[in-house]
Amino acid sequence: MEQALEQLHEEALGALEHVSDKDQLEAFRIKYLGRNGLIGSLMRQLVSIAADDRPRLGKRANEVKNDLETRFSDKQQSVSTSVRPPASAGPDLSLPGRKPVPGKLHPVTQIMEEICSIFESMGFSIAEGPDIELDHYNFAALNIPEHHPARDMHDTFYINDAVLLRTHTSPMQARIMEKQQPPLRVIAPGKVYRCDSDITHTPMFHQVEGFLVDKNVSFADLKGVLTVFIRKVFEKELALRFRPSFFPFTEPSAEVDISCVICGGKGCRVCKQTGWMEILGSGMIDPEVFKMVDYDPEVYSGFAFGLGIERIAMLKYGIDDIRLYYENDLRFLSQF
Ligand SMILES: [Zn+2]
Repeated sequence: MEQALEQLHEEALGALEHVSDKDQLEAFRIKYLGRNGLIGSLMRQLVSIAADDRPRLGKRANEVKNDLETRFSDKQQSVSTSVRPPASAGPDLSLPGRKPVPGKLHPVTQIMEEICSIFESMGFSIAEGPDIELDHYNFAALNIPEHHPARDMHDTFYINDAVLLRTHTSPMQARIMEKQQPPLRVIAPGKVYRCDSDITHTPMFHQVEGFLVDKNVSFADLKGVLTVFIRKVFEKELALRFRPSFFPFTEPSAEVDISCVICGGKGCRVCKQTGWMEILGSGMIDPEVFKMVDYDPEVYSGFAFGLGIERIAMLKYGIDDIRLYYENDLRFLSQF
């Protein structure tokens, strides 16, 4: 009997040691101290033992019971004051926060800004014109009169006979030269529109038009500015080739190719197996264009160029399908 009592005492102390919340504490109370608990049932057994041993054992049993009750109430206090907010207490401020995913500029916007800053570093200023343009500025003022075969080069979105979605950013040449006198160094970035859609063309795309007008401007200046620009934008010494071409508003005209960045010049579907990629059109501004804005072609000369921003971004980042820019797939866009 005595042994059982001491064993129970020890066991109960050990169990109380491991109690850490209210539920466990209540289970402890029921098991040891409750009406039908182990201590109570042991004490009830006292009536059946020898009368000589009864007072001593009864006293000891009371000591054990009191000891456990004291320790129990101590534990009760420490459990109720420990910091464990109930589940309904609102957000747990100790949890780490969730980081918002920051947005990014579209790759086309990034390249556009980069191109602008390269030209700004060479002293060009930036001008923006209307997307909905008069036929006059889009064609006539650029030496492309009505019925001129060059108009067939553009599959134009006409709004009516006199108004259209601009097919290039070149109208800004005429708009600016009309209002300002040389010297001029301007680039005009913006959206342009043509009926065209395949892996290297979309119906809407972005262009940068640039022109420089001053006294004694030569083709060497054109080559110098464009070579510096291309090497800065691609951040490497790419091979360039100036290929004679024709534009109604420049004479002479040249298309500029760079060695294909995707295949390294071996030939692929983007460069149509040539190893070269046309990157921009350029030329010396035609004296006829100067006459239309009352500049004296005997005094002033200049050059102009136009380039597709998507095309530059495709080559710079090695993208082989222009349509990816406009499908708004975040897995694609978030790479830039
Ligand atoms: Zn290629």
